[in-house]
Amino acid sequence: MRLAEFLSVHLGAEESCGNPPELGQPGEVPPLLTVTSQLLALLAWIRSPRGRQVLLQGTHPASNVQPPTPDGALSQEDSPYQPTPIQGEVPRGEAQGQQLPQLEEEQRAWQRLEQLILGQLEELRQQLEQQEEELGRLRLGVGATDSEKRVQHLTLENEALKQSLSLTRDLLLNWGPGPPTRAPQEEAEALLELQGRLQEAQDTTEALRVQLGVQEVQLQGLRGALQQLQQETEQNCRRELQQVHGQLAGLRTRMASLRQGCGDLRGLVSTFTQSCQGSLSEAQGQVSWALGALSAGGAGTQLPEGQQGPPTGCPGRLLELKGNIRVLCRLRPGTPCSLVSVEAGPGGTVTTCYRGRQRRFHLDWVFSPDASQEEVFGELEPAVLSCLQGYSVCIFTYGQTGTGKTYSMEGPPEDPGIAPRALQSLFREMGTGGQHRVTLSMVEIYNEAVRDLLAPGPPERLAVRQGPAGQGGIQVAGLTHWDVPNLETLHQMLSLGRSNRATAATSMNPRSSRSHALVTLTLCAASPPSTPGTAGTLHLVDLAGSERAWKAGATGTQRGDPNSAQRLREAQTINRSLLALGGVMAALRARRSHVPFRDSQLTRLLQPALGPGTTAVLLLQISTRPEDLGETVCSLKFAERVGQVELGPARRRKAPRSETPSSLSTDTPLTGTPCTPTRSPVSPPSPSPDSGSCSALGPSGDLPP
Ligand code: ADP
Ligand code: MG
Repeated sequence: MRLAEFLSVHLGAEESCGNPPELGQPGEVPPLLTVTSQLLALLAWIRSPRGRQVLLQGTHPASNVQPPTPDGALSQEDSPYQPTPIQGEVPRGEAQGQQLPQLEEEQRAWQRLEQLILGQLEELRQQLEQQEEELGRLRLGVGATDSEKRVQHLTLENEALKQSLSLTRDLLLNWGPGPPTRAPQEEAEALLELQGRLQEAQDTTEALRVQLGVQEVQLQGLRGALQQLQQETEQNCRRELQQVHGQLAGLRTRMASLRQGCGDLRGLVSTFTQSCQGSLSEAQGQVSWALGALSAGGAGTQLPEGQQGPPTGCPGRLLELKGNIRVLCRLRPGTPCSLVSVEAGPGGTVTTCYRGRQRRFHLDWVFSPDASQEEVFGELEPAVLSCLQGYSVCIFTYGQTGTGKTYSMEGPPEDPGIAPRALQSLFREMGTGGQHRVTLSMVEIYNEAVRDLLAPGPPERLAVRQGPAGQGGIQVAGLTHWDVPNLETLHQMLSLGRSNRATAATSMNPRSSRSHALVTLTLCAASPPSTPGTAGTLHLVDLAGSERAWKAGATGTQRGDPNSAQRLREAQTINRSLLALGGVMAALRARRSHVPFRDSQLTRLLQPALGPGTTAVLLLQISTRPEDLGETVCSLKFAERVGQVELGPARRRKAPRSETPSSLSTDTPLTGTPCTPTRSPVSPPSPSPDSGSCSALGPSGDLPP
């Protein structure tokens, strides 16, 4: 302390040997480093010759002070508080003689100590600088991942520095130049000042530690924010990705629907083109017919009855057929049920209340339960008669077993149904002019097997094939076609076919038809010499029951019924084929480019009857029994969907001059081997119907005038 004070007194005057830094200078340099730097500067000055000279001249070390050992330890009697001899008590000459070797020795000890202190101080300074750098880095928040440990480390370092400082201070005090030159009060003040600085350094360290803590907290906060930001970004990205996926799926769906729409449009265009061509050729036919009539009879001459042009039938009614499948509904007579109510007549409705839900179905025509066979046929007659003009008409009955499909289609002899009345009406319309040639074929589809009901022998199983490429339609190889000269023969043949039809009993209908029956009548009109004739077709289809297999009691597991397994199979195949019919209707309704006609034999055979430009009428038979309500609703739903199917405007078919009626046009469904069994089927002809070479029809021009 004395040395330090002494030096601080002299430092102000020394410029050349390097001044120690100003004590207590406020600034950014930490106090500890400042103190150390000051000590270093002091030592550097002490080491300089000038410093030594000043020291030697101004004062001298206390005689009782021993130089410290190289390791810095001091002996017990080196205490600075021990009394020292007062300067000037020894005579001067003697004292000088004794002091010289002692001074030299002290000089050497001084140098050793100086080296030691210098080394230690240099080391301390480097450590302090490192700490300062570290603190600076921490202030900047760089590398502060382990800040807590660093703070502890810094505290420890600080403690070590403090110890080193106090050691240095002790050394300086013990090894100071001679007895205290200041008053004890000054010493105490200097000590206090140093302690103050030390405290200041500690405070600074503490403040830095607090600051570090704050920064650590801020860093944690920033890390949290960063993590949150990352999560949010990730979530946003995911959400956007999902949105993009959703948009992509939407686009795909839209593209598919556009493709579908494109296919539908193509279908429409082709239907329209065909319709235009049909109308054009029809107009041409009419013009040439009129010209022929004019040239034959002269202007203003009344034509004979047989040459009155195309049979009129009900042309006005025919125009009502706008290309949609017409749906008529007939209720089976029975006890009225409050759950089914009807508004009969054209555009009628059927309202059902099933499972607490009321539904109203709109149909083209609704017949009340007491409607007669005549009434029903009256609605169908225009369509039937249009066959004479070359149109293709298909009438089919649909509904649950026992609802009266067969009754409506065939009817009992005393009250005939659609088929006999249609034939009668056609023959009546044709009259006796012989302008038309009528051929008949009849098949049934039983368990997906197509059987010829008018074969001369027992019913044969027939193969249904796709027609020649480009012509469409189908071919039924070996199918018997009968030429029907008159109504009586026709009735006889129908009876024969009916008796050949497979029937079996179920719990719902003792004489239920377990098969689909298709009657096809082809009417080829004789043509004037210059124009092609027409070939109309009438398909009469009596479908098997549409009820579910389980409800028909044909579950196949019933005890005591040896045929129950067969009943179950029948019910399953019927359901499958009706499902296929539903699929075809759905595709036609949606105007899909692909219509699944090949899904069942029924739809295969109906393909020509449901082609573009044909006329189709569905007669839906429903029951009013409460226990049948579920089936009734199902049937009505099916019928409503069928009512939306558009087959395009009806158009007439031309009969090629050189071909037989059975292959006159591609829409003739039951094309196959033409045959000529003109004899009555009651006395079956010799079995040669599939010879394919015995056509009784020559070119259409050969038809009687
Ligand atoms: P499906 O062919 O739908 O199975 P059917 O035509 O065989 O049903 O009819 C079942 C029973 O109901 C038959 O005995 C039939 O005579 C009778 N029937 C159906 N509809 C009527 C009706 N409108 N008038 C009189 N009897 C009917
Ligand atoms: Mg039936």
